[in-house]
Amino acid sequence: MTKNNGGSPFIYAKPKRLLVPAKTALSFIFSACSYAKYHDVMVAANKFPYSEPWFFNIIHELTPIVDHFLKLGFNVIRSQATGKRKVIYDFSWEHSRNAKWGSGVVWDYDLHKPIFILHTHLREAKSSTNMEIVNATKVFKALKEIDLKIKTVIKDSHTSTFEQAVLPCYPNASEIVCMGHMAQNIKKQIEKIKKGLGAGARRYYMDICARFNDNITQWKKAMTVPSSHYRNIHTRCRQLGTHPKKWRPRSYRLNNLQLAKIDTVFKSVAAKPRQNCHTMKTSLDESFFHKKAKWASKYSHHPKTYPFWVNLAMLDEIYGPKWIQIVENAYLFQKK
Ligand SMILES: [Zn+2]
Repeated sequence: MTKNNGGSPFIYAKPKRLLVPAKTALSFIFSACSYAKYHDVMVAANKFPYSEPWFFNIIHELTPIVDHFLKLGFNVIRSQATGKRKVIYDFSWEHSRNAKWGSGVVWDYDLHKPIFILHTHLREAKSSTNMEIVNATKVFKALKEIDLKIKTVIKDSHTSTFEQAVLPCYPNASEIVCMGHMAQNIKKQIEKIKKGLGAGARRYYMDICARFNDNITQWKKAMTVPSSHYRNIHTRCRQLGTHPKKWRPRSYRLNNLQLAKIDTVFKSVAAKPRQNCHTMKTSLDESFFHKKAKWASKYSHHPKTYPFWVNLAMLDEIYGPKWIQIVENAYLFQKK
């Protein structure tokens, strides 16, 4: 034990007696309670709460243990990821006001499992617009160093992150934009042009991606169909079989400017078939998002310990609920 350890009681009293408050604090931390909640509950239960530095010291002591098991878990998953991989890269900010942290998570698309996580603090990126690129650069460098082979990177949207962060490490990788996000994006753009058409355009895009994802020529043809369909000319859509079955003849009453704008939207999507013609989605991480909302919720700001809390959510994602026992045992073992 070092001299200055942030006021841990372990150096002042007999370990056996002190394991009880430590265990209490651990159970609070594992169920996503901050010091403030711990303090409130202890006071309400008429118990003397240990100090904030003491509580934070436990987090401090837990951090290397959590990191260790995280690394171990990722190693096991990555050992199954042989050959060239499709990965999802997802960057998200801390969900609180004045967010200072952002995390990049990499998922293996075919294994449906996370393989890497890395946190970046705003001070390192210098400006918030740089955050994703700074994070992604570190992530893909690290993945290259551990020799993970990547052929495809799936992202929520097309940004310069791919060119600036992925290509320097993986010059032969290709970028894919999530079909769900792309469809949503098309919906928004079309809805802006003419109210009521967005949802149909979104469905249309997903439908033709599902039908023609192995045939880029057909897919490209289908992407030009809306230009005649919205002009109420249905020969081409009937030919391709993309015309809706329950279709009631009606006029869209679109003016030329609106029609031209709609054409532009579909043309710009069709211009990038390698990114947009597929059915891949980034939505693997939904369960993790719920977990993240629990351990690093938007209602509590963790200026110093944010990565720790997100890593707990990641342990839960990798190991399931048994991670609590694993980490607690490792911690208490060190204290004996
Ligand atoms: Zn039609």
